[in-house]
Amino acid sequence: MQTILVRGQSVSPSKIVCVGRNYAGHIEELGNETPAEMVVFIKPNSAISDILRSQIAETPLHFESELCFLVMAGRLGAVAFGLDLTKRDLQSTLKCKGLPWERAKAFDGSALFSQFVALPTDPTGLALQLRVDGELRQAGGVDMMIYPPNSIVEEISRFMTLEDGDVIMTGTPAGVGRVHTGERFEGSVLAGGEVLVDVAWVAQ
Ligand code: MG
Repeated sequence: MQTILVRGQSVSPSKIVCVGRNYAGHIEELGNETPAEMVVFIKPNSAISDILRSQIAETPLHFESELCFLVMAGRLGAVAFGLDLTKRDLQSTLKCKGLPWERAKAFDGSALFSQFVALPTDPTGLALQLRVDGELRQAGGVDMMIYPPNSIVEEISRFMTLEDGDVIMTGTPAGVGRVHTGERFEGSVLAGGEVLVDVAWVAQ
């Protein structure tokens, strides 16, 4: 089983529940419709990796940086910076045909996380930043989300059991793009302008 690091302890999530189309800016850049209901998909435990790849079997990978939450006792327990890696061309083909996205979203190495750290008292001020080779590429936060984290938990819990250690990925702001070999990705979670946790990967 793959693990994530939660306040220094290894945790093995049973699943990662991902929200799609949660920021207006990203819906616009992909030319998607704003959904009438929250868009949800899953990555399995086997998707978790510490290695950022620019491609898999010659298929280029695209990055989506996301605020990620650990679930404990049915509630948000900790926060991390995460990358939802996507085979974008394949996802577009599958979407057009009305087929499931797993081939484009749930492959091995499609979910990367920083360490998970304690939530601030007021999680509504949480934000993320992604820098690639020092350049700010993505910035977003709870205040820009269509579905904020607490309502995501509520909505998912209507039809699916969230187990302790499961991870929720809350969608990506505008600015997604391709990962290129050798690029340095630096992600951070901020609260009230202060860095709560940060992480860096160099793309292989
Ligand atoms: Mg995503």
